[in-house]
Amino acid sequence: MIRKVLAILLTALPLWGAAVARAEPVAVATDARLVGDDQRTRLVVDLSASAPIKAFTLADPYRVIIDLPDVAFKLPEKAGRTGRGLISAYRYGVLAPGRSRIVVDVKRPVAIDKAFVLDPVEGQPARLVLDLTPSDRKTFLQSSSVAEKAPASDVTSAISAPEEARPLVVIDPGHGGVDPGASGPEGASEKDIVLAFAKSLKAKIEASGRRAVLTRDDDTFVSLPARVKAARDADAALMISIHADTLHDADAVRGATVYTLSDKASDRRAEKLAEKENRSDMIAGLDLSDEPEEVAGILFDLTMRETKSFTSQFARGLVRELKGAAQMNKNPLRSAGFRVLKAPDVPSVLLELGYLSSKEDARLMMSDAWREKATGAVAQAIDRYFETRIAQGTLGRVN
Ligand code: ZN
Repeated sequence: MIRKVLAILLTALPLWGAAVARAEPVAVATDARLVGDDQRTRLVVDLSASAPIKAFTLADPYRVIIDLPDVAFKLPEKAGRTGRGLISAYRYGVLAPGRSRIVVDVKRPVAIDKAFVLDPVEGQPARLVLDLTPSDRKTFLQSSSVAEKAPASDVTSAISAPEEARPLVVIDPGHGGVDPGASGPEGASEKDIVLAFAKSLKAKIEASGRRAVLTRDDDTFVSLPARVKAARDADAALMISIHADTLHDADAVRGATVYTLSDKASDRRAEKLAEKENRSDMIAGLDLSDEPEEVAGILFDLTMRETKSFTSQFARGLVRELKGAAQMNKNPLRSAGFRVLKAPDVPSVLLELGYLSSKEDARLMMSDAWREKATGAVAQAIDRYFETRIAQGTLGRVN
C-alpha cells in the first residue's frame, strides 16, 4: 500500500529538464528516435554509457515509465513532442536526486515487449530500447498492478511472460550419420564425442529447471540450415553448437575454444575451421542451392545487433566458467563465418571442446569424468547468463 501511494506521489512529481544541477551523471542521453508502426513501436535513446533501467506501465492515462539512474538528457529540443505508432509523446528528466525518468504517453493499452540497454558496440553509443506492442485494457491493468506489487528490483521481470522464466536452450551436437566430423585415436569420431557431451549437457540444464532440446539425439545427419531452423522455429533463447576440432600439423595445440559468428574471421585458424565445419552439408551430399531464409524489415538491423551483443555476453561467460573445468585454448574466444551460427534472432555460439589431434585432449574428451565436469561448467554459464538477462529485463519474446 505504501509503495502504491509512493508510486502515485512520484509520478505526480513534475519532471524537470536537463538544467537541474547535480553531480556527475551516470550517462548522458544524446539522441532519441521513434521507429515502427501501430503493431510495434520502438523508442531508442542513445546513451553515453550503459545504465540499468526499469520499465513498467501506468493507466489512466496510459503510460509507460522508464526509470533510470542519474542520466543527463541532452536531447534535441523537439525530442518527444511528436509521436509515432503507439506512442503519442514522451517526456524525460530528473525524478529525484540520482533518479531520472522517461514517461512515454501511449495512444492505447500496450504491452512492453522489450525494455533493455545495449552496451556500446564498435564505436556506437549504448542504446536504450523500448518495444511496445498493442494490448487491451484488461491485460494492461493486470500488468500495471503486477508491476506495482512487485519489489522494486523485480519490476521488469514481473512484466515478463511466465514462459520466459523457462527459456529454451537448443543444444546442437555437430555432424552425425554420414558426416562423422573429425576423427581421433582408436576410431573415435567427433560425431560421437559431441553427442555424448550434448546429452549430458541437456540433463544438466533440465536439472536446473530450464528447458533444452537437441538438434539430433542419435547418429543421424542434420543439415546446417536445418539446425538453424530448429533453433528459430523453437523460439530458442540460446543455441550452443558442440564440436571437436583436429589439426594435422600441430598436435601440441590443445584446449576448448568458444566461437561466435563474424563476417571477418578473428584469425586464420578460425577461418579454416569455419570452412571445414561449413563443409558438413557438402560432405553429406546435400544440394547447397537452398538460399538462406530472407529476413528483412526496419527492425532487422537492431535485432541482429541485439543478438550479437547477447551472444558475446554469453560467449565471455562461457569462457569464464569453462576455465575452471577444462583446458582452454590459448585464445579461447574467436570468431568466423560459421553457417550454423547464422540465426539472426537466436544468440548462438559454437564450442569446440578440444583437439582430437592432441592425445591429451582426445583422452579427456572420451572420459566420463571430464565430460561431467565440463558440462557442469557449461550449464553453470547458461544459468548465469539467463539470470543476468532476467535481471536486465532483456529476456524478450524472440531471444
Ligand atoms: Zn565439427
